[in-house]
Order: sequence, then structure tokens, then C-alpha cells
Amino acid sequence: MRKIQRITVYASASSTLAPVYNQAATDLGQVIAQLGCDIVYGGGGIGLMGKLADAALQEGARVYGIIPDFLDGLEHGHTSLTEKEVVSNMRIRKERMLDGSDAVVALPGGSGTFEELFEALTLKRLGLYLGPVILINTNSYYDRLIEFLGQSVNEGFMSELHMQMWSVIDSPAGLAEALENAPVWSEDALLYAANGYKAPV
Ligand code: AMP
Repeated sequence: MRKIQRITVYASASSTLAPVYNQAATDLGQVIAQLGCDIVYGGGGIGLMGKLADAALQEGARVYGIIPDFLDGLEHGHTSLTEKEVVSNMRIRKERMLDGSDAVVALPGGSGTFEELFEALTLKRLGLYLGPVILINTNSYYDRLIEFLGQSVNEGFMSELHMQMWSVIDSPAGLAEALENAPVWSEDALLYAANGYKAPV
């Protein structure tokens, strides 16, 4: 089995969501803690981020937050994390969130989550990030995004191979299985990209 220790989680900062989303964030925190894994996330104390961190900490997980100083200063930063790293801007934060990361998990979110998710997928496409990328499709939230990714493949903007970059699960309960079954990805993805996706890796 592949060794997964450090899981990067992207999640909404919104506190105005339906209970089903908050529950999924709490469930994910518990599931990751029960797997004995660490979490690295955006460091927020609000929205799904806050629910995730609270649940994981309560179950004894180590939770690392990486937050830009302007957000931390606005008191959006979680105050009881295992460790909080305050960085100077959003770009450094995204980079640090993926340093040493073994897997990425995206809960439902807005533009911030989309950006983070797509950065991970873009790096994976270029062979610069190799871990599983798992979308938690709570309440079918990501259905249209998944459909659009399929359209991108159908029209040749990405290839069938790229469909192996992400996995979709309905709830955090399926996380261990999704991590276990995620297709192995290699740095050879870069060669494929360099060839305009014409030849198999
Ligand atoms: P969004 O999905 O648009 O709510 O953005 C959430 C993502 O962006 C998270 O994964 C965080 O890394 C980052 N983010 C956005 N807003 C905040 C905030 N107030 N506090 C901490 N992180 C945030």
C-alpha cells in the first residue's frame, strides 16, 4: 500500500452553508485522524476549514495551518492548531501547502478551493505533484465540474490519461479506499505534456 501521511485539504471558508457540508467537513477531519494521517490546510478557523480542523484535532490528529499574514491578522486564523505557519502571500501559501504532501483532498468550496485544486491538478499533469487528488462530492456539489473536466477530455484539451489524475467520492467514508485505489502517477507525465499529449507515456 502506498504510504500516505500528510494530506493537504482544500475547503470552503464560508460559514453560510447547508448543514450537509459542515457535516462532511467534520466527518473528513475524523476520518483523516482515524487513518493516523496529518492534515495541512489553509489555517482558517471559519467555514468548512474550521469544522475540519476542530474535528481532526479533537480526534488527536496533527493539523498544520498555512495562512497569509493578512488573513491571520483579520482573526480568520484557527487558534489551536498543532502548528501555524504565517506566510507573506497567497502564492507562497499554496506552495507550502503542497510541500511534502502525499495526497490532496478537496471538500466543496468556492474560487479559493477551485484555484488550489486546479493548481494541484496542473502540477500533477506536468509530473510535479504525484499524489492522489480526491474530490469529496458532497450533495453532488462537484457534478458539473466533473462533467466539464470530461468535456475537456472529449474535446482534446486533456487526454483520457488525465482522467486518472483525480478520483471522486460521495463522502469522507470512502477516503481510505480512494487513496488506496488511486492510479499511480509518475514524473513521465511531463514527457507526455512535452509531446502535446500525442503519444502514450
Ligand atoms: P473558498 O473555497 O473560496 O472559500 O476558499 C477557501 C480556500 O482558500 C481554502 O482552502 C484556503 O486555503 C483559502 N482561504 C480562503 N479564504 C480563507 C480564509 N478566510 N481563511 C483561511 N483561508 C482561506
